[in-house]
Amino acid sequence: MLDYFFNPYPDETFYSVLCRYYESIGVEDQAYARRQLMGDRANTAIDTIFPNASIYNVLRNTPAGIFDIRNIILNHTPFLYFMRIYSYEKKMEALASLESGTGYPIGCEVSNTKSNYAPRYCPLCVREDTEIFGEPYYHVEQQIPFSSACIRHRCKLKQINRPLSGIHKLKFYPLGKMDLDLNADYNVSDTEYLINKTIWEYWKAPLSIGQTPGHNNLYQSLINGKYLELKGSIVGVERTALFADLCDFFGREFIEEYFGHNLLKSSVERLKNWTHIRPERYILLQIMTGMSTKEVFSPEPVRDILKDRLIELSKTDRFWTRKEVAAEMKVPPYSVDCLCRKYNIPVFWYQRNPSVREDQKRKSVVRRLTFSEDQFRRVSEVALAKGYRQETRFIQDVVDHYVTSELSMRPISHK
Ligand SMILES: [Zn+2]
Repeated sequence: MLDYFFNPYPDETFYSVLCRYYESIGVEDQAYARRQLMGDRANTAIDTIFPNASIYNVLRNTPAGIFDIRNIILNHTPFLYFMRIYSYEKKMEALASLESGTGYPIGCEVSNTKSNYAPRYCPLCVREDTEIFGEPYYHVEQQIPFSSACIRHRCKLKQINRPLSGIHKLKFYPLGKMDLDLNADYNVSDTEYLINKTIWEYWKAPLSIGQTPGHNNLYQSLINGKYLELKGSIVGVERTALFADLCDFFGREFIEEYFGHNLLKSSVERLKNWTHIRPERYILLQIMTGMSTKEVFSPEPVRDILKDRLIELSKTDRFWTRKEVAAEMKVPPYSVDCLCRKYNIPVFWYQRNPSVREDQKRKSVVRRLTFSEDQFRRVSEVALAKGYRQETRFIQDVVDHYVTSELSMRPISHK
């Protein structure tokens, strides 16, 4: 049993608390400190980004009822950042596993593994924490590999100097004992700030916030925006344009690091179905489309603009042609039939009755109509706008449409 242990400071990593413990016992021997903390499990890695069994191994040696393991995992490790896209059930499964002293492999312990990764600090947080608490400490959100700036001080994060070999996972590097560079670098662009702010939101949002089964607001917003791609009734994302815009917005090198050299169809599908579990791509797409974290994870689905518009048009009382509907919807004419089928909306533009055409072939009635020049010019204009090449065909369709709807509205005669 440990004689004493420390309460974590606000947003302090659990590893940082272990480092402070090591510093406090005043012994150089790191293995001794690990044995003090974890007894016969002293060889458990302590410097890991995603929480592991070390939390259970240490807390089981503290008096019962003082340190709450769930609180430590949720508030003093980046667990919630890495688990954000997972379902609630998966999050609970991972929590249960960690709380019982078993690790939980998520396959992206160091998301987008950077070989030169070492614990980070913000020079101004170091100064501020030393003033308030008497010592500096490691902050959780600053250890997430995707983060690069402190959002409180809007300056770049720095890394401690330590060997980059795997041995470090067993070692204590108390921040207060490291040789730190305390000059702040304020060269943080608005976009970089926004990325870091969003990382912070992904970490801080409550446990219950995560993937929304049945809809994906981020995906829907891409389609509602300028990335709609229609192949028949298959609504998808125009990947080439989206990838080009991402590169323009964030820089090609940066985007390739997180998306690869292009945007694969399978990647977009996985994002849409929430089966892509790394948060970085969601964050980048969300920032480019101007969505908030709240909107991305909202249980309320974003409106499907394509469907809403089609319903709205179908309710207007006028003579529509397919060409006009397609132009209004900004989709190719062949797609409007597919969309009506997809959304279960009855076709509302004029469709010539095929049996009438057959009748015409067999037997025709010819009548002459007389228009004033001005009248005919106006008819021509409208016919052309509706996609007709012949005014006579247009007049015939309008009259047929009118007569058909008139007849359909007549009360049924029971005679
Ligand atoms: Zn700071």
